[in-house]
Amino acid sequence: RMFNELQELKGNIRVYCRIRPFLPGQAAKHTTVEYIGEHGELVVVNPSKQGKDRRRNFKFNKIFGPESTQAEVYSDTQPLIRSVLDGYGVCIFAYGQTGSGKTYTMTGPNGASEEHWGVNYRALNDLFSISQNRRDSFIYEIQVQMVEIYNEQVRDLLLSDGSRKKLGIISVVQPNGLAVPDASMHPVTSTSDVLELIGVGLKNRAVGATAMNERSSRSHSVVSIHVRGKDLLSGAALHGNLHLVDLAGSERVDRSEATGDRLKEAQHINKSLSALGDVIFSLAQKNSHVPYRNSKLTQLLQSFLGGQAKTLMFVQLNPDVSSYSETISTLKFAERVS
Ligand code: ADP
Ligand code: MG
Repeated sequence: RMFNELQELKGNIRVYCRIRPFLPGQAAKHTTVEYIGEHGELVVVNPSKQGKDRRRNFKFNKIFGPESTQAEVYSDTQPLIRSVLDGYGVCIFAYGQTGSGKTYTMTGPNGASEEHWGVNYRALNDLFSISQNRRDSFIYEIQVQMVEIYNEQVRDLLLSDGSRKKLGIISVVQPNGLAVPDASMHPVTSTSDVLELIGVGLKNRAVGATAMNERSSRSHSVVSIHVRGKDLLSGAALHGNLHLVDLAGSERVDRSEATGDRLKEAQHINKSLSALGDVIFSLAQKNSHVPYRNSKLTQLLQSFLGGQAKTLMFVQLNPDVSSYSETISTLKFAERVS
């Protein structure tokens, strides 16, 4: 219900902020986060400035501090999952610099126990349990695709031979939401099916070395869950989609001391993230023209983002002072789309 109220205000877009804790072994524990309010307020300080430029204020629909658990971060998301089973489209993103906790929020730490599961597994778990509860009135079929976008190429992450086949995108919006029809489609009936599939996908995901994080992810990964339902009383069919997007790191090129291939990667990432920002901004403004065509990421998301679809963006922050300038650029992105 809260989400529907918001929908009228903001064109279906919510923005949550999550600040990850300092990690064991992370040297200087100087935080840029000065204040986290109960209603989504955030104050960050620039330690190298004095006077009126020292502090900046931001506001989110919700904010989660370093102590927030995976369950707390997910807790408000269940209504979105319910709406997927009602036939709506839902997109959940994690945005932020490499190392800010995007994958932790979306998937959880490597080999996580249930307590540390991220949004992906919790969402799927709810999808299965809610569909079970409705089994007297609906029949549901749930299928999963997972692709990556790397250097403006879309590739299948779920081929068991790890071949990462190149895929085309259909640029005209499809009523069934299938923007990448050739991506392999995997029927699932339980959370453990999904755990296994996402595990395969993560292994196949492109990783490369950068100065900031030697295993940083330089690709966007998109887990798409397609739900087909049939109302047993009326016979009516419905199609819902859930797209879970772990975006590539948003850090600027110079920070990673990139050259050659790394520079090309970084330019593709910057281009697609700014295209995403432009699309969400126009949707939030309810502009009649939404510039989907400017990147593969936004083309792929075109059939999921507009219309009745609901979008949730997790904006991820590393609290360390050394990340201050990346933190500010992440927060500016968030400010623009919310
Ligand atoms: P990203 O995907 O944005 O590059 P990761 O999700 O890989 O970042 O997080 C970087 C590191 O921080 C990982 O070791 C991860 O386990 C840890 N981490 C991130 N968020 C949290 C959190 N909320 N609590 C504990 N550890 C976290
Ligand atoms: Mg990651």
